[in-house]
Amino acid sequence: MTRQCARPGCRAVATATLAYDYQQRITWLDPLVDEAHPMSYDLCHDHAQAMTVPRGWRLEDRRARRGAMPRSVPPFEDAYAY
Ligand SMILES: [Zn+2]
Repeated sequence: MTRQCARPGCRAVATATLAYDYQQRITWLDPLVDEAHPMSYDLCHDHAQAMTVPRGWRLEDRRARRGAMPRSVPPFEDAYAY
């Protein structure tokens, strides 16, 4: 199953999923998740690489280090429980 990048005008295949938590001011880049989630966006490789976050926010790129996450960062699914 493939999905397209969520950026307007971009027809590239999505390779990453962007999720965010407003209260913690964190955004996460994960490998493309199996199912689309209303609070996340699928991005192609180029748009994922070009991703920037607003001042005061933190961007956690978790694509390259699955299984090596710091304990202070909640798992992807738990981000929606807050
Ligand atoms: Zn794109």
